[in-house]
Amino acid sequence: MTENAPASDVMVKAEGIHKFFGRLHILRGIDLEVRSGQVMCVIGPSGSGKSTFLRCINHLEKIDSGRLWVDGHLVGYRQRGDKLHEMHEKDVAAQRRDIGMVFQRFNLFPHMTAVQNIMEAPIRVKGESRQVVRERALQLLDRVGLSEKVDSYPSQLSGGQQQRVAIARALAMEPKLMLFDEPTSALDPELVGDVLDVMRQLAVDGMTMVVVTHEMGFAREVGDSLVFMDEGVVVEEGDPREVLTDPQHRRTQDFLSKVL
Ligand code: ADP
Ligand code: MG
Repeated sequence: MTENAPASDVMVKAEGIHKFFGRLHILRGIDLEVRSGQVMCVIGPSGSGKSTFLRCINHLEKIDSGRLWVDGHLVGYRQRGDKLHEMHEKDVAAQRRDIGMVFQRFNLFPHMTAVQNIMEAPIRVKGESRQVVRERALQLLDRVGLSEKVDSYPSQLSGGQQQRVAIARALAMEPKLMLFDEPTSALDPELVGDVLDVMRQLAVDGMTMVVVTHEMGFAREVGDSLVFMDEGVVVEEGDPREVLTDPQHRRTQDFLSKVL
């Protein structure tokens, strides 16, 4: 298997990923690569396995077969000689620390202020000092345009502001990779732009990102590649402008004709 190990500039490599839920065959052989510093957008109908795939990358689900590498490391396995051994929980936790994830629902801790939400994980998980973490949290709030909301509670923030805090919270762990699962789908339309602006800036700053989204404008402008998933497989992948204007596969054409 080592001969298939990804090149050093590849952040995510998936090779023949299969995932079952009971008898349901949800991921049916996913192959793809995300290079460091690149933004891959993923589109596809509801139920096609997009969230499941992101969750596999982030160890929230276990794959049933195939290989998945993040930053050159096999997800969930350790190699000794020719054999693969399942990782200990502690090592899984260490791998997960390098991956930030932002969900459709922001799930901020309601009893904590914006800055406290951002400080929580670095202090608890990484054991960093309060002062260093607070400094970084304040910088992150500035970066997502919420300097004025440092001490606000989630209930005092709009959905878009809460989602920007959630992005800052993920960034506070200094991840190598950010996964976004429909981060703007639960937002009122007028709040979507601010969140996409933060994500666009993150991309410009060089973050490696996998973004499941219905925002075709974002995919076109920010994505380095666009993947169309359907029924657990990658049907089509390419330059976002090309896939969106000239889809090659019937299923991509059908999907785009409904959403564009
Ligand atoms: P998408 O994000 O593309 O809408 P999902 O990855 O959420 O798709 O789901 C793909 C399929 O897997 C759906 O049919 C969903 O019902 C099913 N599924 C997802 N999670 C589970 C689970 N924990 N148990 C059983 N079925 C699941
Ligand atoms: Mg989903």
